[in-house]
Amino acid sequence: MSAFDEDRVNVIQAAFQEGIKAILCPAEVTEPESIHITTELTETYENIYASGGVHPHKAKEFTTESLTKIESLAEDKKIHAVGEIGLDFFYNFSPPDIQILAFKQQLNLAQKLDLPVIIHSREASQSIIDCIEEETYTRGGVLHCFTGDWDFAQKMLDKNFFISFSGIVTFPKAFDLRDVARKMPLDHLLIETDSPFLAPVPFRGKIKRNEPKFVKDIAQFIAEIKNVSWSDFSDQTTLNFTSLFGIEISNLRC
Ligand SMILES: [Zn+2]
Repeated sequence: MSAFDEDRVNVIQAAFQEGIKAILCPAEVTEPESIHITTELTETYENIYASGGVHPHKAKEFTTESLTKIESLAEDKKIHAVGEIGLDFFYNFSPPDIQILAFKQQLNLAQKLDLPVIIHSREASQSIIDCIEEETYTRGGVLHCFTGDWDFAQKMLDKNFFISFSGIVTFPKAFDLRDVARKMPLDHLLIETDSPFLAPVPFRGKIKRNEPKFVKDIAQFIAEIKNVSWSDFSDQTTLNFTSLFGIEISNLRC
């Protein structure tokens, strides 16, 4: 995103210096600039991977050409998922029926390409489940930036999904989300920043933008509330990342 145009190289270096093993960066296929920068990153850095999809905010720009674009991107060996795709009934930047159409068609494409999906869901839990069931989508994926309840999490775990937590889990009022994180099986948990948004506590409100390096702070926070050792937690989340996205773990030993 443009928040990193000035110092992207430094931001990436800082993340790897913090011990981050790999980064997956989703490209928005309706934006040529997003594809361009993402491809440049995956070509420059061995441990940066990518996905491609039409975000629910951009669903009104979704066409059959978007599917062709994703399909041709998927020929690149560093594209490991279809996403972000999904439903956002909070902002409704695109009409809900258009969002559902774009989501379903991208689910089917992911299934055809044998790639996992990265799902964005806001105030749309039941509709996400309905779409997956109606399209008989079984390839699984990750529910990113999870803010749902334990019931939704369990239903998605049953459907072969991982659940990913962002800095929201550190927010003072996120009691319910912390409960979900405590209950979450460690072998289906992922961590992310959603940068430049959602900086975790204690940086929230003190810095201009969130950065990938803060994934470590989110990880340490969750390891603590789950009462899991740092080495077990970091090893397992690295393993979860590689198994979900089909990446050789040996490739990540820097
Ligand atoms: Zn999202």
